[in-house]
Amino acid sequence: METAAETAAIIVAAGRGTRAGGGLPKQWRDIAARPVARWTLEAFAARCPIVLVVHPEDRARAESVCEGLPVTLVSGAADRAGSVRAGLEALAAAPPRKVLIHDVARPCVSPQIIDAVLAALDSAPGAAPALPVTDALWTGAGGEVTGTQDRSGLFRAQTPQGFHYAAIRAAHAAHPGGAADDVEVARAAGLAVRIVPGEERNLKITGPEDFARAETYLLSATDSAKDPLKQETAMDIRLGNGYDVHRFGEGDHVVLCGVKVPHGRGLQGHSDADVGMHAVTDALYGALAEGDIGRHFPPSDPQWKGAASEIFLRHAVDLAHAKGYTISNIDLTLICERPKIGPHAAAMMAEMGRIMGLSQDRVSVKATTSERLGFTGREEGIAAIATATLVKP
Ligand code: MG
Repeated sequence: METAAETAAIIVAAGRGTRAGGGLPKQWRDIAARPVARWTLEAFAARCPIVLVVHPEDRARAESVCEGLPVTLVSGAADRAGSVRAGLEALAAAPPRKVLIHDVARPCVSPQIIDAVLAALDSAPGAAPALPVTDALWTGAGGEVTGTQDRSGLFRAQTPQGFHYAAIRAAHAAHPGGAADDVEVARAAGLAVRIVPGEERNLKITGPEDFARAETYLLSATDSAKDPLKQETAMDIRLGNGYDVHRFGEGDHVVLCGVKVPHGRGLQGHSDADVGMHAVTDALYGALAEGDIGRHFPPSDPQWKGAASEIFLRHAVDLAHAKGYTISNIDLTLICERPKIGPHAAAMMAEMGRIMGLSQDRVSVKATTSERLGFTGREEGIAAIATATLVKP
């Protein structure tokens, strides 16, 4: 590397382990349509130049995997420490201030972890991500538990492990070998290493089941990149609104939210004219970007004449579930002078909750007049406006 950067990354990929299956060293196998190593390299490429340490036999393959990225290839050694030393020496001509040392088999590493390690290096010579051990720990022999182990103060180590370059280079040069990782090397040289929060998704691919897990994380991260909101919330939250109006006509009752309410007039409409249920149904379709009731139940189709609006609402609820959404809440406002809604609101909320499979604290039905203004004020009809929130974890 010709010019010294503030930070460089060393990615150790010289292993030839085929335990993960596929007959190829795991770092060169495809995951979510790209080689494992490519995902790992791309996680660092936006931040700093990279030294990729590979087995000499893998050089041609590595060259094609690195294409277009700021990567220098270096040949590794028989053991991991030797490969790290080779990477550190490759940076010696133009030494960076900070170096991140990372396992190629952790392709799901997040920008947040990388940034946290780099930030911690402003106030410590070493920093690395780790997760506290939360499972109980046992000792065992012959298939039986022989004892328990206190887990307090125990951590599962991850990478990237970051260091001040000169300090870790000297530490590696002085170490006799046999260290589990670079943190052990650093500590043997007396360097303080700060723990930053690791992430469950930053797993190390070892066996075939790890491939499946990592693939899920990588695919969801790809979705998130396309959809900035998902990146922030890690869940998909949808809001929909619905609005409906039905005109008064002949009759002795109206049906609102599935409840028959005695009134001197009825509501006109193709179905049972349940204006409240229609607004909620359209709010659900709206949240799903699935049009409205008319699209799913065309008024031109005689089979929906006089239909109970529960059919429409159930369809929208089922569609939300089929797409993986849970309905978080609905809020409905009926706008009319009469009939008075208050005495029937509890029954309406109970009926809507029953149809939608929602508890009562997630269903709101309220009413307002329009101060005798407009068509609702003149008692020509009833209007309804609804909001629905859908959540996909
Ligand atoms: Mg309607």
